[in-house]
Amino acid sequence: SASIEIAGVSKVYDGGVRAVDAVAMDIRQGEFFSLLGPSGCGKTTTLRMIAGFETPSSGAIRVDGADITHVPAHKRDMGMVFQNYALFPHRTVAENVAFGLRMRGLDKATITAKVKAALAMVELSGLEDRRPAQLSGGQQQRVALARAIVIAPRVLLCDEPLGALDKKLRQQMQFELKQLQKKLGLTLVFVTHDQEEALAMSDRIAVMNGGRVEQVGTPTEIYNQPTTRFVADFIGDTNIFRGERTTTSTVASALDVGKGLILALPPTEGQGTGVLSVALRPEKIRLITRTDAATAAGSSAHGIVENTNFLGGAVLYRVTLESAHRVLVQQPNAGTSRLFVPGDGVTLEWTPADLVVLK
Ligand code: ADP
Ligand code: MG
Repeated sequence: SASIEIAGVSKVYDGGVRAVDAVAMDIRQGEFFSLLGPSGCGKTTTLRMIAGFETPSSGAIRVDGADITHVPAHKRDMGMVFQNYALFPHRTVAENVAFGLRMRGLDKATITAKVKAALAMVELSGLEDRRPAQLSGGQQQRVALARAIVIAPRVLLCDEPLGALDKKLRQQMQFELKQLQKKLGLTLVFVTHDQEEALAMSDRIAVMNGGRVEQVGTPTEIYNQPTTRFVADFIGDTNIFRGERTTTSTVASALDVGKGLILALPPTEGQGTGVLSVALRPEKIRLITRTDAATAAGSSAHGIVENTNFLGGAVLYRVTLESAHRVLVQQPNAGTSRLFVPGDGVTLEWTPADLVVLK
């Protein structure tokens, strides 16, 4: 498999839509790399430029260091899987999978052996003679996957491949695709708008917004240290406080947010002054029955539970603070302890190191 370098690539469609805007990223050999972002942010366009179905308006794409920006798609040795499978309806499973091998002019015995191996890989042995309409959605997507990997591509490109599957099957396919990718050592570029899917599957994620890359990082980096407000907001639930840094000290900087909620920032973040945003994940806040004991300034607040949302393994609380801020708090469902109910007075506690300062 291969590495991919996307060097300052832009795409302006006829009519002037700037679908991709100066995107730069390095995708490593053998990596599961996701392009994640809302509909219309330029994921498919980026993937199609890697595949060779679209030509960049500017910038370059390199594979293992070689410039392929203007190499035609069929000479790129890349496999592609789409959401709608794009199988040939009148051909059998085996014929569908054999397609790329036939195009390469391999002999019949080799094709048969490779098709058999690829179908075994996606656990479809025995279904060689079926037609797509005789298969479930999950099975059809496995055929599409077998067809893509049978040519031993240098890179596998997947555009929302699991989007049409129901949740259970989707999770199973996520797991299987990831296993297959690791087993084959494939470089895989995966497009999704589903943040949970990207977090679950990826080695690294590029979060895109409006044709640009907001942040590239591992799932834990993207989740725990989002660098922009967009990333913090798009990935999971988060509390974002806007504020102005008014004083600084060497230990902890006091940040006066809105109407009197004080967040003590970790020392490394305590430099300079100015307006900024701070994110705090709901599960990083501890919720206890309201205490009137003095609480640590900057890392606690009092409030009242407004409503609760039972998620099974966890409970999501919406709490209104005395400062009038509304805060989401997620607590694990321990099973034994009583859950809070609307109207309960509570105290919130958090660790300053869990506060993330956003750009
Ligand atoms: P995503 O896959 O993230 O949903 P796309 O790459 O499909 O985003 O689209 C990015 C932007 O480019 C959108 O505004 C879309 O309407 C526009 N776009 C996509 N394909 C074309 C095209 N062939 N011609 C003109 N505009 C396009
Ligand atoms: Mg798309």
